[in-house]
Amino acid sequence: MTFRAQILTLYPEMFPGPLGISIAGRALEEGVWSCQPIQIRDFATDKHRTVDDTPAGGGAGMVLRADVLAAAVDHALTALPDAPLLAMTPRGKPLTQARVRQLARGPGVTILCGRFEGFDERIFEARPIEEVSMGDIVLSGGEPAALMLLDACIRLLPGVMGAASSGFEESFENGLLEYPHYTRPAEWEGRTIPEVLRSGDHAKIAAWRKQRAEDDTRLRRPDLWERHEGTRDQSASGARRKTKKDK
Ligand code: SAH
Repeated sequence: MTFRAQILTLYPEMFPGPLGISIAGRALEEGVWSCQPIQIRDFATDKHRTVDDTPAGGGAGMVLRADVLAAAVDHALTALPDAPLLAMTPRGKPLTQARVRQLARGPGVTILCGRFEGFDERIFEARPIEEVSMGDIVLSGGEPAALMLLDACIRLLPGVMGAASSGFEESFENGLLEYPHYTRPAEWEGRTIPEVLRSGDHAKIAAWRKQRAEDDTRLRRPDLWERHEGTRDQSASGARRKTKKDK
């Protein structure tokens, strides 16, 4: 089954862009996913094909009009009714690997890309749109955000990644950052590789990796670590409750 990507944008020529190369590019050629950019401007109704207007209340920049967006969104929903509809915006919920995994299991995705100051807010009241952010940064447009989201989904589609096991040990898949990697040469600029990784002792290596994943997450991403500890405490108390009831 083909994972269908529809992208509503003022710059359709940006797609597939970098996703036409390497892993995603091969998958596109093989029909694992399809890429359908849609020009928002095609849904403007005046002779100048206007898509934006000045912000109500004043201020800099331009705002994408709700009526034009709605016409584009409705077209996209008809073409791909079962796929979730996502809008790229720094006001959205930060994207997680868990959400990416859900999306990759589905029929595809329709992505609405903003430009200028963003969208007339009423579009989010009037249509079932999930607002998604790529982090606490401001891009000039939603297109690079859409490329990021699609890249994350595509690599998870069946048959896209080489080694079947890769993907499950990655950062975030178990709520932690991944452990660090090393490769040859064994010594470089006087720096060696942690001895345990050259021991051939798989149990020891696994233990070292788990420890490093935990230590690095605690130090680098206290937010992730707190959540990870929370889930662990919860499942531990769940297990305790169960034991009690079982008695
Ligand atoms: N005025 C807006 C920013 C607009 S940036 C604000 O301050 O919230 C223009 C467009 O770039 C947005 O409509 C959105 O589609 C995209 N964009 C910018 N930053 C983004 C981010 N962190 N995540 C997802 N999309 C982003």
